[in-house]
Amino acid sequence: MSLPQTIAAAKKSLDAGEVSAVELTKQALAQTGKWEQKIHAFVEVLEEEVLAQAKESDKRRKQGRVGVLEGIPIAVKDNICTTEGHTRAASKMLENFRSPYDATVVTKLKKEGAVIIGKANCDEFAMGASTEYSAYGPTKNPWDTSRVPGGSSGGSAAAVASGEVLAALGTDTGGSSRHPASFCGVVGMRPTYGRVSRFGAIAYGSSLDQICPITRTVEDAALMLSVMAGQDRRDATTSSTPVEAYHESLSTNMKGVRIGVPKEFFGEGIDPAVATIIHQALKTFEEQGAVLQEISLPLTPLGVPVYYLLAKAEGSTNLARYDSLRFGKQELAAASLIDRYKEARGQGFGPEVKRTILMGTYALSAGYADAWYKQAAKVRTLIRREYEAAFKEVDIIAGPTTIETAFKIGSKTGDPLQMYLTDALVVLQPLAGIPAISVPAGFVNNLPVGLQLAAPHFEEQRLFAAAHTYEQQHNFWQKFPEFTAAN
Ligand code: GLN
Repeated sequence: MSLPQTIAAAKKSLDAGEVSAVELTKQALAQTGKWEQKIHAFVEVLEEEVLAQAKESDKRRKQGRVGVLEGIPIAVKDNICTTEGHTRAASKMLENFRSPYDATVVTKLKKEGAVIIGKANCDEFAMGASTEYSAYGPTKNPWDTSRVPGGSSGGSAAAVASGEVLAALGTDTGGSSRHPASFCGVVGMRPTYGRVSRFGAIAYGSSLDQICPITRTVEDAALMLSVMAGQDRRDATTSSTPVEAYHESLSTNMKGVRIGVPKEFFGEGIDPAVATIIHQALKTFEEQGAVLQEISLPLTPLGVPVYYLLAKAEGSTNLARYDSLRFGKQELAAASLIDRYKEARGQGFGPEVKRTILMGTYALSAGYADAWYKQAAKVRTLIRREYEAAFKEVDIIAGPTTIETAFKIGSKTGDPLQMYLTDALVVLQPLAGIPAISVPAGFVNNLPVGLQLAAPHFEEQRLFAAAHTYEQQHNFWQKFPEFTAAN
């Protein structure tokens, strides 16, 4: 027996007593046992711990204490702290790190009964767009294992796509939930900056980071976010805006909804086959009564340079704490302090993390900060204003999530700029601080394509409703990658 396909379906089976949390967990572990040798979506599977958690969940259910996610097996990206297992951010630097506390989101999920099946693979410190920069080896795309799953939450997306788990947590600094969701054919949702607490998420770019649900359906993403969201005194950037029960009011009425389609999203670099699929997807909205409107967001091409300057600058400062004294590699041969830093950081960090430190430190250094960091910060404000102005004309902005389908493993690691450009359409929303979702929209040569929708700050409900409407018309989520000798 395989897992139910969605959280919603699993909840029904659990409530009806057709399956127990322990059985569900064993099914997830069986699926993981089958797929892991092919896709390596996990850095660590917590076999024993998860069965103990599932037993507890069944006990609670018997006592009538049933949380919203009671007994649901979930994967957690390796850069989010859990007291179970390790939290390594897929880095050698944190090889032996065990977190003494849970991230706020993990506490919230556990409080609602979720069981944590393992730590999902990702790019080291979430820096990358292909999950090839994990120090524990790359994750592979379940639709074609010669290709990347996207990144940096590639393990989370591949685990959901292959049916190893029903949902996963990812993070999104500049696309890391939506990009892999698009490449793997699942739903990835980035909430408004401030909607979800980042306490316990290992920081990359602190003015950009968000924790995100990755699921098969929009309804499941909405359910997950309703549990994850809310103000947290441990993260001062969290908002007091009330949290909605997003999954309970997924209206499918698109009548008169104005959907803006930026012409720049179909510009240079976009794969024409991807563009065709997205245009077809947009027609679906029109058929449902929405009004499509071409708009212009002229700053779109500046997204990648502005994002990478800011993210790397913030990343370089956040990485300073891995000094082998407070955090990071401890068993070192070096005698002097300077040699300790050199040894720990030289050996502990991989290539993209080192690039972050070099680029970020340069962009912030005396004499250059005005030209690079400050200039980028100013353009970020202009990008934000461009979105605010656009949302006076339209309710939702739609386009492709990625400019291409999943690329071959090894095809971009030799050329960082090409790797950065794959993020062209997912870095803009984080710069503007707005919520966005990627939902499966079809296939090109059996590789998934994602449709991306964005809404104004704290309009998550609007986003879920539109994405759900689309999903109801097509049900691409019901298609699973086949497990064959070939892939
Ligand atoms: N690929 C982008 C980067 O490396 C985004 C990563 C992310 O969102 N964590 O910065």
